Amino acid sequence: MSTFRNSPNVLFETTVTATRRLSPGFVRVTLGDDRLRDMAPHQRDQRIKIMLPVGGDYPAGLRAGLPEQGWRREWRSTPDRERPWLRSYTAYRARPAARELDLDFYLHQPHGPASTWAAGARPGDRLILSGPHVRAGQPGYGVQWEPGPATRVLIVADETAYPAVRGILPSLGPGVRATVLLEAGTAADAATLDDVTADHSVEVRLRDGARGGTALAAMVGDWLAEHGAAAAGAGSRFYAWAATESSRIAHLRRLFTEAHIAPERVHTQGYWHDRPTRKEIAD
Ligand SMILES: Cc1cc2nc3c(=O)[nH]c(=O)nc-3n(C[C@H](O)[C@H](O)[C@H](O)COP(=O)(O)OP(=O)(O)OC[C@H]3O[C@@H](n4cnc5c(N)ncnc54)[C@H](O)[C@@H]3O)c2cc1C
Repeated sequence: MSTFRNSPNVLFETTVTATRRLSPGFVRVTLGDDRLRDMAPHQRDQRIKIMLPVGGDYPAGLRAGLPEQGWRREWRSTPDRERPWLRSYTAYRARPAARELDLDFYLHQPHGPASTWAAGARPGDRLILSGPHVRAGQPGYGVQWEPGPATRVLIVADETAYPAVRGILPSLGPGVRATVLLEAGTAADAATLDDVTADHSVEVRLRDGARGGTALAAMVGDWLAEHGAAAAGAGSRFYAWAATESSRIAHLRRLFTEAHIAPERVHTQGYWHDRPTRKEIAD
């Protein structure tokens, strides 16, 4: 419980204002509400929580403005048959002035609850989410991207992390060179990032039937074989960020360690689980 006592996150009640199919695997859902003027736009890979209603509506106790400690207590005490599904998403484009927020959903096959909701989202649908209140302090809360003085960065992502890539790349200073390794089910999904990857070095590898994260691990291995020594030698001027299926993360970390890259220069994060659905995905 005390874990969330200092959280700047509060609940926002939003309504879908528009949806757009970006590619076979992606839907962009635009959410609107007056109170979104108060959601802190940290961008980059800023993480928020969304709640997917069970049976069409939300429990009455989950109200706009509830702080995280309070909504978690309410969420836990809701009977399972009514308790919303909880999932992490990237608020890569919060637009407080317009009272809007875009979320890009990758539609897993088969769909889990979040993918099902996004695939069927229509203007007027409600979505409750938890994000940082602008007056709660803690700038950058929910952002994991911490390159420090790095001038050479490696970004490794499957589709669930494309929104983070979309948020991170425009934040890079002019002297920073990025290599972006992308896993994709279809090339059209990776092409949705063409506008932000244009000035960087990009490699896309298709999954081709393999399990999520397999192609990424191979790409990271290949990249380290060629550039690992230079990356290790660069010290704090190198930084790597990788997000993919959770069971692949330990292997990815091992690859960086074997290349003698300092652990604090590498951020890895499981973004989804290749296993049957659960109410809360606790990442
Ligand atoms: C910090 C963070 C930010 C994120 N940002 C984004 C984002 O911006 N956009 C985005 O798309 N995702 C994002 N993700 C990932 C997203 O949270 C997960 O993909 C999420 O689990 C999707 O929820 P879901 O309900 O659609 O699928 P889940 O219910 O979580 O299931 C995921 C998938 O696992 C598969 N699966 C594996 N085994 C089985 C089985 N036995 N039965 C059925 N299905 C199975 C299915 O394909 C299923 O759809 C983020 C994750 C984190 C941690």
